[in-house]
Amino acid sequence: MMKVNFNCFDRMVYSFRLELDEAYNRVMDSGWFVLGKEVELFESEFAAFCNTKFCIGVANGLEAIELILRSFEFDRNSEIIVPANTYIATWLGVVHSGSRIVPVDADIDTYNIDFRLIEDKISPDTKAIFATHLYGGLGPYKQIEKIAKSHDLHVFWDAAQAHGIRSNGEYPSPIGKASAFSFYPTKNLGGLGDGGAVVTNDENIADKVLHLRNYGSKKRYVNKYIGLNSRLDELQAAFLRVKLRKLREHNHRRREIAQLYHEFLKGLPNIHTPKHSDDHVWHLYVIRHSNRNKLQEYLSRIGIQTDIHYPRAPYNQSAFDSSQFDQLNFPVTETIHNNALSLPLNPYITDEEVLYVCKAITMYCDAEN
Ligand SMILES: *Cc1c(COP(=O)(O)O)cnc(C)c1O
Repeated sequence: MMKVNFNCFDRMVYSFRLELDEAYNRVMDSGWFVLGKEVELFESEFAAFCNTKFCIGVANGLEAIELILRSFEFDRNSEIIVPANTYIATWLGVVHSGSRIVPVDADIDTYNIDFRLIEDKISPDTKAIFATHLYGGLGPYKQIEKIAKSHDLHVFWDAAQAHGIRSNGEYPSPIGKASAFSFYPTKNLGGLGDGGAVVTNDENIADKVLHLRNYGSKKRYVNKYIGLNSRLDELQAAFLRVKLRKLREHNHRRREIAQLYHEFLKGLPNIHTPKHSDDHVWHLYVIRHSNRNKLQEYLSRIGIQTDIHYPRAPYNQSAFDSSQFDQLNFPVTETIHNNALSLPLNPYITDEEVLYVCKAITMYCDAEN
């Protein structure tokens, strides 16, 4: 029996070990650990990668979202439109910033926000649309920009699952007014711990986030705003610089794996494969099956690790007051959460492993019918 793991951190560390050790030693030798040269270099390298003017390293993706919104100082009644089916962190970032969540259901073909439902949710208090490129698939940015323009709203992107995402094969993809990234180890660009970044072309947002991440202070002991402590540390920045050099190659490999899954799984009875596009960076390969729990158990028994993104929508979590949200308003989100199953996909998985997964699913479906 072959074992296929969902994440292959052992292989990742093995492949980068020499360069990571070198980065570690460089930081140790510098004797400087917070907000220094490595963070500055990573910020300029990641800004160049995203083709944006500014990148500000922060502590994690959640706070990248929060800091973008805080930089606007929206009032307490302000509403931010978010996808109903995004990872809960998008919602939490909005709540922490002091604004209110207005969820919008997803498009079943792309898993991204259904832009056709946005205008109905716009009120006089709506300030922005904070959408997600979920699973690594490009959100409907053109349509969202158009809606935002006609209602005078800001557009932000949660790009925590979409490092290196393109539009029509070209860099950069549109980032809205600002985009939030996470460098959690499983992400397309992952560190060896927590990390995040805000990218923007807007000088005012950049300057404000730069203050806010460090107690509201850019200059030591001069505090301009009520900030927080949300800094990217030198060691993570040094590791991220190493891994950034391989990001394009890794995304290319992710596309190859998705292509293999697509080829071997499409058309199987009871399996729904995700829509393919050249822009996709395949953070996750999410199929749907009406009894995904049983399929997941079967795959687990034969050594194949899968995951579910996500088992429950944010509004069904006890953290949020469920009486505030009627789940009947989110039929597509419900379908996704009930049927989604993520197959192993990371840059270190071999073709052989992918084909083993495909074969197992094919046999399962044949037996089902
Ligand atoms: C991972 C993730 C986040 C949060 O990032 P952290 O660094 O874990 O705080 C936010 N949004 C989405 C869509 C994510 O996948």
